[in-house]
Amino acid sequence: MSAAARHEPAAGLILPGATLGVMGGGQLGRMFVHAAQQMGYFTAVLDPDASSPAGLVSHHHIKTGYLDAYGLAQLAAHSAAITTEFENVPAAALETLAAHRLVAPGASAVAIAQDRAQEKTNFNNCGVACAPYALIETQQQLNAAADELLPAILKTTRMGYDGKGQVRVATRQALAGAWQHLGGVSCVLEKMLPLAAECSVIVARGRDGQMVNFPVQLNLHRDGILAVTQVFEGNVPAALGAELVAAARSIAQGLGYAGVLCVEFFILEGGTWVVNEMAPRPHNSGHYTMDACDASQFDLQVRTLAGLPLAQPRQHSPAVMLNLLGDIWFAPNGVRADASAEAVTPPWSEVLALPGVHLHLYGKLQARAGRKMGHLNVTATTVDAARATAARAAALLGIAAF
Ligand code: ATP
Ligand code: MG
Repeated sequence: MSAAARHEPAAGLILPGATLGVMGGGQLGRMFVHAAQQMGYFTAVLDPDASSPAGLVSHHHIKTGYLDAYGLAQLAAHSAAITTEFENVPAAALETLAAHRLVAPGASAVAIAQDRAQEKTNFNNCGVACAPYALIETQQQLNAAADELLPAILKTTRMGYDGKGQVRVATRQALAGAWQHLGGVSCVLEKMLPLAAECSVIVARGRDGQMVNFPVQLNLHRDGILAVTQVFEGNVPAALGAELVAAARSIAQGLGYAGVLCVEFFILEGGTWVVNEMAPRPHNSGHYTMDACDASQFDLQVRTLAGLPLAQPRQHSPAVMLNLLGDIWFAPNGVRADASAEAVTPPWSEVLALPGVHLHLYGKLQARAGRKMGHLNVTATTVDAARATAARAAALLGIAAF
């Protein structure tokens, strides 16, 4: 092979200097933009919100709706390749873009992740078990739902996130009312399982099939929203961790996935587990990778999109991530103020005085209860030190102990 041939870029390789596009301007898009820019790419964001977190930091910001033909044409004109940062981006928009530009992950994988029924069928096809469930689209299906599923959670098949679009149902009597409450739309009735823990695994898969993964993340949810993620050797038993990683990889493989994929799992009392759901993008539970690993989930999103090689990421420090929800702006010193109270800036100086603390804020102009404003990564040389510092930071911020 001649020297010139060795430097010939591989087909589909998009080198720094090109522009990478992203559908959606939320915090995940912002962190993708930062990672892309660090590597010398230009960026384009499509999001109708003029002050969207990613739009504010991108070279180009197209402020139209996600199905706007002009906006999509603009994004395609700017971008060599396009990814997405939220899973409810219309699959039709991705198909439109894919006619002109490389799009990863593809519309079909995103469409599966957008629909809980399709998602569960797909998990089963990949040989990964999920919680027992029934599809509820008609009154007949509602009536026929097996008693064994109760108590259960009724979840809309589409557009749910952060616990929205879900109703817990204890009895058969409550079922009809719950379905009505959700508007009688297509739902899955999912058996309520006794959870011992929740975990997630993030994999990155290139268009050429190369795949790498981050370690298993141990997640604590509060009110249906991720609150704390802990990642270190021994956070889950090693054998369990290996099974979860293998399951996430087989799901990505089965989908022929290209990009970063997060798979969420329920660990049941007794030690068995089932898959919960997947997100076709970087995930809140992977934010610790920005400070605790030698490549972040956003770095790998850039690499998969650009067709660059993937190297297995290495976690170099035990990590605890605290999600910073808008609530802490209204609970100075951990004491919740009433709803009409003014937002109070959290005590950043005291928090930043702690060792190994990395503050990430998304540039959102207004704090609101339940709104993801940022996250705090805590790293240390030992697990005990990371947990102790995270506990101290949580106390300062009015985040409940974990
Ligand atoms: P996300 O923001 O992760 O996309 P979501 O709105 O899609 O959340 P789920 O992940 O389905 O919702 O559920 C939210 C939380 O509710 C879970 O993390 C878990 O704590 C609880 N939960 C959901 N389904 C079950 C179940 N079958 N048994 C027990 N707990 C459950
Ligand atoms: Mg979830």
